[in-house]
Amino acid sequence: MASFCNTTIYIQVGVMCVLFSFASNLPSVVNLGGLLNDDDKEVENAFQHGVDEINEDSSILPTKQLSMRLSKLKPQDTFHTFQAACQQLSSGIIGFIGPTTLPSSSLIQSVSTSIEIPHVRLQSDYIANVPNGFSLNLHPSSELLSKAFRDILDTRGWMSYTIVYESNEALIKLKKLLERDTNKSVKISFRQLKPGMSYKKLAKDIGKQGEANIVLDISTWKIKEFFKQAQDIGMMTEYHSYLVTSLDLHTVDLREFQRGRTNITAFRLVSSDHEKERQGWEWAYEGGQYKKVSQQKKTLKTKAALVHDAVKMFALSLHNMSSDITVRIQSIFCDSPEPWTHGNHLLNIMKETKFKGLTGFVEFDQNGTRTNFSLDILELKEEGLRKVGTWNTQFGIQFSTKYEKLVGDVLRQLRNRTLEVVTIINPPYMMMKEPAEQLTGNDQFEGYCLDLLEELSKRLGFKYKIHQVRDGSHGSKNEHDEWNGMIRELINKEADLALADLTITYEREEAVDFTMPFMNLGISILFRTPTKNVPKLFSFLSPLSLEVWMYMATTYLGVSLLFFLLARLTPYEWVPSNSCNPDSNVLENQFSLSNSFWFTIGSLMQQGTEIAPKAISTRVVAIMWWFFTLIMISSYTANLAAFLTVQRMESPIESANDLAKQSSIQYGCLKFGSTKAFFKESNIESYKTMWRVMQSQPTVFTESNLEGVERVLRGNYAYLMESASIEYITARNCELEQIDGLLDSKGYGIATPKGSPYRTPISNAILELQEDGILYLLKEKWWFRKYGGHCKHEETSHSASTNELGLANVGGVFVVLLTGLGLACMISMIEFILKTRRSSRNERDSVLLDFQRKARRIGFRCGLTSHRAETSSWKQSRD
Ligand code: GLU
Repeated sequence: MASFCNTTIYIQVGVMCVLFSFASNLPSVVNLGGLLNDDDKEVENAFQHGVDEINEDSSILPTKQLSMRLSKLKPQDTFHTFQAACQQLSSGIIGFIGPTTLPSSSLIQSVSTSIEIPHVRLQSDYIANVPNGFSLNLHPSSELLSKAFRDILDTRGWMSYTIVYESNEALIKLKKLLERDTNKSVKISFRQLKPGMSYKKLAKDIGKQGEANIVLDISTWKIKEFFKQAQDIGMMTEYHSYLVTSLDLHTVDLREFQRGRTNITAFRLVSSDHEKERQGWEWAYEGGQYKKVSQQKKTLKTKAALVHDAVKMFALSLHNMSSDITVRIQSIFCDSPEPWTHGNHLLNIMKETKFKGLTGFVEFDQNGTRTNFSLDILELKEEGLRKVGTWNTQFGIQFSTKYEKLVGDVLRQLRNRTLEVVTIINPPYMMMKEPAEQLTGNDQFEGYCLDLLEELSKRLGFKYKIHQVRDGSHGSKNEHDEWNGMIRELINKEADLALADLTITYEREEAVDFTMPFMNLGISILFRTPTKNVPKLFSFLSPLSLEVWMYMATTYLGVSLLFFLLARLTPYEWVPSNSCNPDSNVLENQFSLSNSFWFTIGSLMQQGTEIAPKAISTRVVAIMWWFFTLIMISSYTANLAAFLTVQRMESPIESANDLAKQSSIQYGCLKFGSTKAFFKESNIESYKTMWRVMQSQPTVFTESNLEGVERVLRGNYAYLMESASIEYITARNCELEQIDGLLDSKGYGIATPKGSPYRTPISNAILELQEDGILYLLKEKWWFRKYGGHCKHEETSHSASTNELGLANVGGVFVVLLTGLGLACMISMIEFILKTRRSSRNERDSVLLDFQRKARRIGFRCGLTSHRAETSSWKQSRD
């Protein structure tokens, strides 16, 4: 208990000592100079409120009274500003706050520097890192602010925007935004809003350029009127985005734009933590004057908050300084050669002072420039301006609104919307349903894209209204950089979606936004199916060349003769003619001339004969011949299979290169499509050649894919078309086929106007459809099941049936057989006739009679081959 009492006594003594030191180190009333605009009631209130707050706070300058020496000035009146400053100095002040306009502020900066009295500035410097003298700037520098603007544009992905500005200094202020185009892919335009200029005309001009992103750097009080006039001419839709550079957008009444779905983004320096503190002195600029507004509205102006923080900063710094030294506050005259003795010390302490004010955390660098501050990022929603994140000097942008919430907002918007959808008739993506004249509205259409749209609308809950593109084109850019087709309609905001076989290209991405691709494809060539080679009758001869056949025939002759000769020469081939009597003098040689030929042909045909060589010499010949036939027959058989089954197509072109090299076959593509753009932009030599050729004959370009297909069917024309469409056409028209693979790889996507909020939910839905297999089923339905799709092309179906050999392939073998049989019959007849000529008349008669008799009896059915020798006349005559 005793120690507690001691502690209490020490604390009391300490507090008294501190109070005493303040009491002795400072005069009882401390004056602070304020140079404010005379119409700025809110800022004046903020000054007063700041002073009152310090006087009520016993922890800052206790027992002292902070007093405001306020001068109200005309904004550009530098003469009176100077006079007011000198007056304030003569009454003895510790520093200046304001003024809030640039020329007057610069004047006070030079006065304060010469008298060495701290000065707090409240508007941003256009030029960074200039010596500030005795001034500190509570307003964030233009350099850091423009960095914040740039960061938000980077996260929003603005690749093209127009800066609307009033004063030329704005371009210095927005320096970092201008630096975004150094990589050339960002397109920045400028429009100056000169005094008296119509906002409507300016907005209209911007709209005409197809610009949907605007950086608005105009006075806060003009913003509402600008939006109003922009709304009148349709520049305030969900496709338009504005970045307002004023830090006071939260003070503007934007209620009439809340439901317009326009994307309006701004920053706020006034911290959202201090809403309670501002109660009782909130003012808004309405109807040309400042009025007190309801306390629920958060309308504190940045300048008011800055003035409030400036008062606090002076008080805190003086408090810290007076705890160390005795501060004398004296009257100073503007022409006095003596500066204020404590000015430099107070300035240094102010630079060191850090605190949390109405403009967030306050801290300065050694130049007196504000550092380490943060800004609220605001977005206009249906409920009004909402904080969606913060930007700070250290970490840049941090969004607080969850992604799911953002998507949720858009989904809610989509549910109540009827989207205007532009399309183009091109089977099977979009087709007119029959009977077209009896149908109206969306019912007139059918096809892959309609089914896809229906799926999307089911998932996302939107309704849609389809119309056909007016000029019948997909969309391409002319030499004046103007788009036509569906892309034009999107730029003009005449449609919310373009759904067709619309290819995603880099060039188009600059003008519109694409969703995820719903189909992948590439450019290929559509051409008439080449006629198949009719197999040759004697195609079995093809495996070996004519030369080889000739050599084989010659070899056969040579080997047969060699057999005959060697067999004659070698004694071992001569054997007794009667095998039962080895001592018989009659010797016989089996290799007669005809037997030699018979033996070699037998082995060539892989057959055996009764004849077998006995001598080593003839055996060697036989072995060599057999080896030769083995290799030849194997090679022939191996090659025969390939020759009989492969029926080569004779196509004059096999690839795009072939097309480029020739001039007899014309080729072309769609007139206003991405295929044409591909060839136009290509850097590949053969495609460049193709582009030159196509350009030199403009008639090769077609108005529609259908026209291209008809031209191909007429012949001597190849159509450069997208593979998905080729697949559809060739499945229905068997006379057409795709030549070669794909020349590139790309996808079809749904296009939306630039900045459309619907792109992300639609992309997500497309991904879902892909994962659920719906896109695959839709393709199967429209490509192969609905309205035909029966043609099978060899590239796609290598079924076993294609390897079967037809009569055309093997007919020649039959012909050879029949010819051989015929020849055999003829020879047999010749043999018969020759023999009968040499025989006696009686013999001949008996032979003929015998032949007739037998023929009559058995009708050649079975008797001819079993003609018995004992009854045969030949036998008799031989005997
Ligand atoms: N899909 C193409 C486009 O979007 C049209 C067809 C083509 O150019 O081959 O432009």
